[in-house]
Amino acid sequence: MTPMQRQWAAAKERAKDAILLFRMGDFYELFADDAIKAAPILELALTSRDKGTPMAGFPHTAAPAYIAKLVALGFKVAICDQIEDPKATKGLVKRDITRIVTPGTVTDDDGLKSGQNNYLVAIVALAKGQFSLSALDLSTGEFLQTSTSHAQSVLDEVSKLSPVEILIGGEFWPIGLLERLEQVANQTRSCRLESFTDSTKITASDLIKRYVTDTQGGSFSFLEEPRPYSIDNELIIDSLSREHLDLTGLASVLHRTCTAMGSRQMNRWLAAPSTNLEEILARQAKVQTLLDEPAKRRAIREILKHLYDLERLTVKVAAARINPRELANLRDSLSHLPALIQASEEMPGSGFHLADVHQLLASALAENPPLSFKEGGVFCKGFDAQLDEYSEYASGGRDQIAAIESREKELTGIASLKIKYTRVFGYYIEVTSTHLSKVPAHYKRKQTIANGERYVTPELMRLEEMVSTADIRRLAKEAELFEQLRQSLLTHTSRLFSVAAWIAKLDTLAAFAELAEERRYVKPELLPAEQNCLEIQSGRHPILEALHLKKGESFVPNSVALNADNRQILLITGPNMAGKSTIMRQVALIQLLAQAGSYVPADSARLSLCDRIFTRVGASDDARSGRSTFMVEMSETAHILNHATKYSLVLLDEIGRGTSTFDGLSIAWAVVEYLHNHIGARTLFATHYHELTKLSESLARMHNVQVSVLEKAGDIQFLYTLAEGAAEKSYGIQVAKLAGLPRHVLERASEVLASLEEDKPAPKISKPKPAQLTLFADPIHLALKGIDLNQITPMQALTMLANLKELAL
Ligand code: ADP
Ligand code: MG
Repeated sequence: MTPMQRQWAAAKERAKDAILLFRMGDFYELFADDAIKAAPILELALTSRDKGTPMAGFPHTAAPAYIAKLVALGFKVAICDQIEDPKATKGLVKRDITRIVTPGTVTDDDGLKSGQNNYLVAIVALAKGQFSLSALDLSTGEFLQTSTSHAQSVLDEVSKLSPVEILIGGEFWPIGLLERLEQVANQTRSCRLESFTDSTKITASDLIKRYVTDTQGGSFSFLEEPRPYSIDNELIIDSLSREHLDLTGLASVLHRTCTAMGSRQMNRWLAAPSTNLEEILARQAKVQTLLDEPAKRRAIREILKHLYDLERLTVKVAAARINPRELANLRDSLSHLPALIQASEEMPGSGFHLADVHQLLASALAENPPLSFKEGGVFCKGFDAQLDEYSEYASGGRDQIAAIESREKELTGIASLKIKYTRVFGYYIEVTSTHLSKVPAHYKRKQTIANGERYVTPELMRLEEMVSTADIRRLAKEAELFEQLRQSLLTHTSRLFSVAAWIAKLDTLAAFAELAEERRYVKPELLPAEQNCLEIQSGRHPILEALHLKKGESFVPNSVALNADNRQILLITGPNMAGKSTIMRQVALIQLLAQAGSYVPADSARLSLCDRIFTRVGASDDARSGRSTFMVEMSETAHILNHATKYSLVLLDEIGRGTSTFDGLSIAWAVVEYLHNHIGARTLFATHYHELTKLSESLARMHNVQVSVLEKAGDIQFLYTLAEGAAEKSYGIQVAKLAGLPRHVLERASEVLASLEEDKPAPKISKPKPAQLTLFADPIHLALKGIDLNQITPMQALTMLANLKELAL
């Protein structure tokens, strides 16, 4: 092995499972297996050197994009840099791994989504069923720690935080939990998992800290202790409910924030709405002001649009990973702060204007500094005399030369004297033949030319020396001054973080107000949990309403009222596609929005705080494959019955569907009774089991409601309105007709239904059929034959399938 190869092998040994980027001159090179693995992903040419070791590489300037790509695909990337100046060393340059980038430790903008948190989560399963959980967003400095004794809570937190990387520690993992964890972790974005089998008696936050030190070196030693939080202070939405309610979709429909900080804040509030009435009321009050004063709101939002991501910039300052242009972005953002504070009419505390920090940056940095130090121009003229001098020399010392030239002209009396420059001689004085007699003695002749002589002087030689080294000196000086500036900012980081947090909230609340105005949302009246009240007048589904608006269709509003005293459970019946599921999700989303501090899509709403929201969809209604087993449905239902309290909001959609009719009906029956008699949670229960409607006779606080349809001469029209009372029929055949089932099938189905309703066996097919149809006399065959695969939409296909299944039962 050559010394270089030995160096690579040593680095590779330390990088372990990471892909090693090995800096060679202006390139990063990958060798051996790393090259084979990464070349196709990065679309790099795979070449090989003397002994056939495969290699691939790219220019170091392109590194951020390449690293981002590898990391996004779940790789760990170790960066091995030259840690001494190659120009200043003889022989082999020292190299070392300077950092390891993983999905959860990315700090380059290339690898980050600006409006989203980038959480690194650690979970340690300790003895006695205790879990320690910690989350860190290295790009914003947010660091949290909590603990729980519930395995489900671990899953719920992971689904709430939507991390990009999870560190697993501890040895007491219940069977199957890691598999579930992996599923939940990959629900909304892909997530890298790494196990640390050696970490058994360590808290999750210590595991995170160790990991950050191992991968980032000392860059993040500024991280403070994690902020402890309790899951109990948040509205708990478990991972399945989160998915079912499409909270990602909700966030994207609601987004009106102007800054990345605000966007992340809104995501956090929607992911973890509050259960603290005072806190929510404070948010509401602010939204109200911003809604009532549109001019003020516009002024604020206009300023917000100019702000860069102060959180991430501050972290970059602290981690010494900021470049001059980003520092100028920080300066420019701060310049808007006084105006923002004034526009907000808030008194967020003294020192919040950060005028001193702005002054510090403004007095130092040039107007438009470059990304890196190479070209100079980071600092403004006059900031540092020495730097100005180096810069002057670096740009060829023109002023100096001009000064020397005019002085020499005067002293010698040679008006045509000129100072010139060539690569070979450097600076020299040129005097034409006619004036040679006036040349002073200290001029040293260098060269004779056709019409004169060229001279140098000690002064010019000194100048020459200065000019030729000026680049390096300037670079060093700029780097030194930049580091000084960065150091002086360090004392202000905690203020910068608080200001960023204030901006994030202001932005989110202004966005809520904007949304409220745009979509005519109203302020919900919030009541303490104990009042157990839920009254929504003309509520709308926030996501569907937005979709409908886009298509120019109208969404039908609905009112829902629940209370613990006499209207705790609503049993919703109605045909397929009538809007049952929609109305339930709508209620959940309105409750969630209210507790996040937002206004809600309704004409009015009175809502008691909830501790948890549960939603479940029956297995056969659950379109996702692989999970639709009755067992899963039942274990999810069990989870609700074991964890719901009388302050919870429970939404059960077609529970019991995954098994035979009688089983399913009996289970649904017992579940409703249990919710009524033992739990007392506000509940909406949508079902196709009409038998359940009889429960209202024995359960005082259960009421029947239905989503109405209009029936006219065998056709139905969906009205999407919720009305009192149980649906009389399920209109399966009418829905099947809408879905395009052939006439024969529909006629036969009506015939069978009529007999079944009279408890008679299905009648034999009476009418003689045309010859070729007798082959397909069975209604299912007929139906299948009638389907034109080129014409139907996926939705219709699904409905048909459901109907075919009904026919088959
Ligand atoms: P169900 O659960 O009763 O089968 P869904 O709630 O899934 O019905 O609703 C079916 C479709 O009807 C939805 O996808 C939506 O397009 C439409 N829909 C539901 N509720 C409304 C409404 N209130 N206004 C307009 N369209 C609605
Ligand atoms: Mg449904």
